[in-house]
Amino acid sequence: MRGYGVAMTATTNSAHDVDVLIVGGGIAGLSLASALAGKCRVALVESEPSLAYHTSGRSAEQLIPSYGPQPIQELTRRTLGTLRDAADEDGRRLVWPSRFMLVGAWADVGQASHEGMQPLSRNQARELVPALRADGFEAAALDIGSVRVDAPALLAFHEERARAAGVHISVGSPVHTAQRVGEGWLVGAGAEGFHAVNVVNAAGAWADDVAILFGVERLGLQPYRRTAALVSLAEPLDPDTPMVAAADNTWYFRPDEAGALVSPSEAEPSRAEDAVPRPGDVERTLELIRAVADLKVTGVVRAWTGLRTSPKDGLPVMGFDPEGPGFFWLAGQGGYGFQTSSALAEDAAAQLLAGPGALRTGVRPASETARALDPHRLSVRT
Ligand SMILES: Cc1cc2nc3c(=O)[nH]c(=O)nc-3n(C[C@H](O)[C@H](O)[C@H](O)COP(=O)(O)OP(=O)(O)OC[C@H]3O[C@@H](n4cnc5c(N)ncnc54)[C@H](O)[C@@H]3O)c2cc1C
Repeated sequence: MRGYGVAMTATTNSAHDVDVLIVGGGIAGLSLASALAGKCRVALVESEPSLAYHTSGRSAEQLIPSYGPQPIQELTRRTLGTLRDAADEDGRRLVWPSRFMLVGAWADVGQASHEGMQPLSRNQARELVPALRADGFEAAALDIGSVRVDAPALLAFHEERARAAGVHISVGSPVHTAQRVGEGWLVGAGAEGFHAVNVVNAAGAWADDVAILFGVERLGLQPYRRTAALVSLAEPLDPDTPMVAAADNTWYFRPDEAGALVSPSEAEPSRAEDAVPRPGDVERTLELIRAVADLKVTGVVRAWTGLRTSPKDGLPVMGFDPEGPGFFWLAGQGGYGFQTSSALAEDAAAQLLAGPGALRTGVRPASETARALDPHRLSVRT
């Protein structure tokens, strides 16, 4: 652990006293605030003037049970279970069925399909997605358990649940100073001060920067660019059309109210920043899709880029820092942030709340999945 090199400007007199201060108002931070609501004193601070301004406001809103390594699949199954039962305050469901299909060369589909996906003949694939060209692909596989999530509604659901239980949420409040005081932290965020027993680092692409601010060693979390766009279509896709992805990971598309959402599926290393698309990104994607599917695109409605952030092993980081007392990581969700969100929040809340005095000391995770995500695994730090 590094020394605490940052001067503290907030005064202890005016600081909010909390058990858990969450840094970051994306899906990770908001899901945790919601999971902790009513169980201890919680505050959440977000740099930007609005919640979910960064990656969580820029996703493809798909939850795919067969996507990702085993711990991700387990977290996704549990998250799906939770979200299937949840509805927003008007009683609307937050997730609904939306199948996921891989298409491409035999070898690529074989390699990219996971257990639980059904192999499809080309005819079967084209029955489900008539826009697919007969000569555009050799093989296909289908995940029937995949769902779409209404991401804004889910984020609002967590925010409302947290606020209703008295969680203090501040936007336009970047954490700028942090100091270890006694058994807790004195933190300055925007114009406010917090005295927190535990701090949760849910800062997405900025998670390593936040660690440094707290004098905690970084974990080598790398942000990667991913672009997406909404395009209008001359012939709308049936809303039941599955999301279709190239098995060689070069594009995907899915139906959307605007027409279709398309993405080049890129994963290009980036610094932490407010990323924007580059000229030609969307046009190149449409060119690649055109070889496989005839979408009849008439225009680009909107394009955006977000940062998907992961450590070297591609798994999220959840747990108490090995050396920083009261510093808890909830970061590195990569392309799985929504599909793992509820299960990660439940596990993080369990660790933060476990046992008498657990709010003051680091608690090691109980389940195998939670152990796989523990920051201790990244002990040789970069
Ligand atoms: C194009 C695209 C498609 C995707 N599709 C999917 C999908 O279909 N399904 C899926 O599960 N995932 C998907 N993802 C990934 C998913 O969006 C992310 O995993 C998830 O949003 C990460 O959430 P987060 O809360 O960790 O990060 P963020 O949403 O980035 O939130 C972190 C927040 O921390 C704040 N912050 C940073 N520093 C500070 C500080 N010093 N003080 C206070 N606040 C701070 C930031 O402003 C930011 O708002 C996609 C991502 C992209 C880019």
